[in-house]
Order: sequence, then C-alpha cells, then structure tokens
Amino acid sequence: MTDPRTKIQLDESALPTQWYNVVADLPAPPPPPLHPATLQPVGPDDLAPLFPMDLILQEVTTQRFVPIPEPVRDVYRLWRPTPLYRARRLEQALGTPARIYYKYEGVSPAGSHKPNTSVPQAYYNAKSGVKKLTTETGAGQWGTALAFACSLFDIECEVWMTRSSYDTKPFRKSIMEIFGATVHRSPSSVTASGRKILADDPESPGSLGIAISEAVEVAAADPGVRYALGSVLNHVLLHQTVIGEEALLQMAEAGDVPDLVVGCTGGGSNFSGLIFPILREKLAGRVGTSFLAVEPSGCPSFTRGRYTYDYGDTAGFTPLMKMHTLGHDFIPDPIHAGGLRYHGMSPLLSHIYELGIFNAVAKPQSECFAAGVLFARTEGIVPAPEPTHALAAVVEEAKRCAETGEDKVILTALCGHGLLDLAAYDSYLAGGVKDVDYPQERVDAALTHLPQIDL
Ligand SMILES: *Cc1c(COP(=O)(O)O)cnc(C)c1O
Repeated sequence: MTDPRTKIQLDESALPTQWYNVVADLPAPPPPPLHPATLQPVGPDDLAPLFPMDLILQEVTTQRFVPIPEPVRDVYRLWRPTPLYRARRLEQALGTPARIYYKYEGVSPAGSHKPNTSVPQAYYNAKSGVKKLTTETGAGQWGTALAFACSLFDIECEVWMTRSSYDTKPFRKSIMEIFGATVHRSPSSVTASGRKILADDPESPGSLGIAISEAVEVAAADPGVRYALGSVLNHVLLHQTVIGEEALLQMAEAGDVPDLVVGCTGGGSNFSGLIFPILREKLAGRVGTSFLAVEPSGCPSFTRGRYTYDYGDTAGFTPLMKMHTLGHDFIPDPIHAGGLRYHGMSPLLSHIYELGIFNAVAKPQSECFAAGVLFARTEGIVPAPEPTHALAAVVEEAKRCAETGEDKVILTALCGHGLLDLAAYDSYLAGGVKDVDYPQERVDAALTHLPQIDL
C-alpha cells in the first residue's frame, strides 16, 4: 500500500551507523589504479603524501560495511536523515500514472550531498594531524562543503575554483570565505601547472582536471598539507552511501519499491551513493530495480568516452585509473552544470557500467533547464543545474508512462538546490542557454593524448 504522505522524514535514530562498500558484492573486482612510472598497482605508500591512512585503507577495503565514526555521525545529525518526497504535483503536471520520489540532499549546510564526504575526510585528516587541505571545485559545491567541514575540525582549506564557475558564481566564493577558506581562480599563477596552462591560453576557462593538478601540486610539495577530492574515488562513493541506506528505509515506509533509479553523473558520487545500497538488494535478488545515469551532452564520458587507463588530472600527477574518459587534457566547453564538467568518471562506477549493471544517457542543457523550471513550479525547490539532468530523464520516462499507462515507481537523487545558480536560470529564461555538442573529431583528438601504455 502506498503511503499517502508527501514527505517521508526519518527521525535521528535512523541515521546510518555504517557505510556500505559495494566492492564486497560485485561479481568481479574493479581494476586497480596504476603507478604511472612502473605501471604496477599503486600501494598505500604511494598515496600517503596525498591522503591520511584511514582514507587510503577505505579506498582499498573489500569489507562490506565500514563503521561511521561517532564524531562524523554527530555532524551528520545537523541535517541527516534527509527527507524523501513524493513529487505528486510534478506527477499531476505530467499527467502520469508513474509515482515519482526524490531524495533531497539540498538541506545540508552546503546545499548539496557533498558534506556527506567532506565531513569524514576532514575528520580523518584532523585525526592524523593534518593542518591544511587543498582541493579543486567546479560549480563551487565541493569547495563549500570542504570549507564547512574544515571549519568544524580546525583545518585550513585552500580551493582552486575553475575559472568558468569563478566568474559566473561569485557568491560561491563568498560562502567558502565565510567558512574560512582561501579561493583561487583556476588556472592560477600560484602553481607551475596553472602557469603552464595560462602561458598557452591566458583566457583558458579552466577545467576540473586543471584545478586538480594545482591542488595536488601544492599538497605534494608540503608534508603538512594533504589533498581532498570531492568525487570519483572509492572512499568518496563509500561515504555517499548514507543517501541510499536512508532511501531504502524511506521507500519501505512509503510502501513502494523503485523500478527505476535515476541520477546525474559528474564524477559519479551522488548517483553511486543512492544506487549502491539498492544494488546490494538487487544483487541479493530482493528487488528488480534498474538504474540510469544521466550526463551532460557537453561532457559525455560514459556515452562517448573510452574505457581505458587515464590520468585523473590534466598535468598527469595522479595515478592512472581505468575509467570512462574523454582524455585528461580535454577541456569541456563551459556549461552551467559546472559539477558535471569532468573529463573522467569514477573508476568503480565505470567498472560497474562495464558489467552491464546500469544504463547511461546524455542530455543537452536546454532540456535539463526546462525540467528544472517545471520542477521548481510544481515542487517548489529550485534544483541545482546538475540534478536537472536527472530530472530531464525522469520527465521523459514519466511522459512515456503517461502514454503506456505504466505505473512505474521512479526514484531520483535531487542532490542539491540551485539558489546559488540563479545566473544560470536567468540566462535560460532569457533564451541564452546554448546546447554544447561535440563533433566526433574533437573527442577523437583528445583521445589521442591518452597515456601510451601497453597492457
Ligand atoms: C558535485 C556535484 C555533482 C557532480 O558530482 P557527482 O560526484 O557526480 O555527484 C552533482 N550535483 C551536485 C549538486 C554537486 O554538488
């Protein structure tokens, strides 16, 4: 029986006590990251200059559940459990028999799902005596989340923000500074990798790959400084599983089982966080849910990239990771969903995609903004430009159900609000949003710069 409530809010006692590691249940393990010089799998010692040992061990663990430390749960309590909504007014507007649910992460202090991982990352770094963290940020959500977490655990935070977002989302910088962080426009002149890019192209819009190189360069040069990544890595996906664990309980309270779960993918963390616990249930034969990842047509790593070993950053400082990539020096055109503007994809999620466990589609940004505006006018929440990609696919599926009469249960991750992305909505409402699509030659050209390794 479907619950008549619109909002399903768990009380604090339902806050998860452990993160779920999907690796334990996969039919095959993901390929390891490789050292770029030796082409051997990287060991914990190779990663020690960048990350504290607790996080390195989480990166490689095959343990099914990892306990959430009490000081981290104590911070999670500020906004978790997050609400799950039934989007009744959106359903009505679409005239669909589908039942649409969304798990809303925009209630966090940063307005997105990112604090689910920034808080444990800051906690483990503080515990190991680290005094300062460096990082990159695209749309600014990750920089905000890390700045917030660092302020709680008394760590300095230095952020490289991609120029295309820095110039269009100035208030993101204000929030990071309120939380005590220092913010650079990337490419910047404070690092060698930034200066090299600026020498080639003084007007470079920047990219997440470039900003990562800058943050890694600074962390690697100073033993008191470490680096934090907001997506892509296994430990990040692990921390995000609190989303899916709560959603399972809430869907059970709602009396529905999702037939389809839809999420947007930049580096893959919010999508993984929602689907992994549900995938566990599916692999155990308890549900028949399917999963759909939605990426921007302007940065289509799953649908047009290659599954191969590549660097995580533009300068080539990171280990080689096997993932869906457009090439580490591919600089995507600026799109409003800055958080989805990454050349690669989580290696773990890429591996799961190769196993054929979920599908992926790419959406142009005008269709996404249209879905975002419809969502705002029916549900009252202005979504961040990133999850409007998921909403565009949800709207398409719900319309299909309206034609076929299928009463499908759809669950989506509304991973952030868009109240700091209003310039993007302004531009859309004024008719100024252009769809970005790549000729195959440009994708092929970037793929010729992949690291030459023979495996
Ligand atoms: C960072 C971000 C994304 C993209 O990152 P994923 O790791 O793919 O989740 C998407 N949406 C929001 C709101 C973000 O902050």
